[in-house]
Amino acid sequence: MIIPTVEEIIRQDVDFLRHCPGELDCAACQEKLCVMVASVADFPTQYGQFSIVGFVNNKDGKDHIMVVKGDIGDGENFFLRIHSACLTGDALGSLRCDCGPQLHHALERIEAEGRGAVLYHQAEGRGIGLVNKLRAYALQDSGYDTYDANVALGFRADERDYAIPAAMLKKLGIRSVRLMTNNPDKVAALQQEGVVVKERIQHELPAQEHDRAYLETKKERFGHFLELDHTEYE
Ligand SMILES: [Zn+2]
Repeated sequence: MIIPTVEEIIRQDVDFLRHCPGELDCAACQEKLCVMVASVADFPTQYGQFSIVGFVNNKDGKDHIMVVKGDIGDGENFFLRIHSACLTGDALGSLRCDCGPQLHHALERIEAEGRGAVLYHQAEGRGIGLVNKLRAYALQDSGYDTYDANVALGFRADERDYAIPAAMLKKLGIRSVRLMTNNPDKVAALQQEGVVVKERIQHELPAQEHDRAYLETKKERFGHFLELDHTEYE
């Protein structure tokens, strides 16, 4: 089996995009889901050397990316974190959630493993968007938990969809993964989209004062596999 490199995939995709029947107007495109690699670049970080891969698609208008370490090879047993964007946690040091530490620890673990990726899924606030997440925070300040706050705003508790992440993985030739997650729904959703999850790898960080109630909601109401009482990084 000939396995294309990411560079070969991008060459093919750039060629496709040059002749795109929809003339690159993804927002107006009515075709079935189309996910294309638009760029790949070196990405040195404080955790190590990675590549950063940018994708375009014709369904949600969002800029999803992957931060990749090592060779994808046969695409089997790929070490992966699908991280839902959280501006407040990832970039602003929020203590309301565990997103920032989870993201950065995933990069550390992938660097140590030597092969893997973080797929950065633009699904802020479980898919309800940044400002709606802040509206949910305001409700949480008056006593709602994150589940009921989303529902009170007219959303499902979790609005995320994994069709695009699955298509991104397939585009790079990733067929089966060892997924860093505590969320059983994420495992099931990915499998449903045709990506085999060979193993779920616990990805829990110590609870702290401000996110303990949030993590308890994750455990009790979203069914996440969390210990909540351990203090060690894995
Ligand atoms: Zn967060």
